Amino acid sequence: MSESVKSGTSGMSVAAAFAGMRSVAPVVFRAGCPDCRGRFELAASALRLAIGASSRTTFYSFTCPECGAAVRKPAGERIVELLTGGGVRTLRLHSTL
Ligand SMILES: [Zn+2]
Repeated sequence: MSESVKSGTSGMSVAAAFAGMRSVAPVVFRAGCPDCRGRFELAASALRLAIGASSRTTFYSFTCPECGAAVRKPAGERIVELLTGGGVRTLRLHSTL
C-alpha cells in the first residue's frame, strides 16, 4: 500500500488525452511472465520502457508480481505507442542531440 507517485510527464501533450481515451481510470497493461507463466495486469507505473536506437534495443521491462522475476521483452512500435500513451516511464537509450 505504498504509493509514491512521481509523475514526470512534462513532455506529455494534451492531444494524447483526446486520442480516444475516455476513461480516467488508470491504464493497465496485460503482461505474462515467462518464468512462472503467470498472467497479470500491471499499472503503468509498474512498467518501464527503454527506447534504443533500433527496434532491437527497444524493450519494456517489469518485475513479475508473482515470482519477482525481472522480465524484459522487446517492444515493437505499437507497444511503444501503447506504453507511452498509457503513461509508462520511458527511458531513451540513444541520444539525439
Ligand atoms: Zn513470474
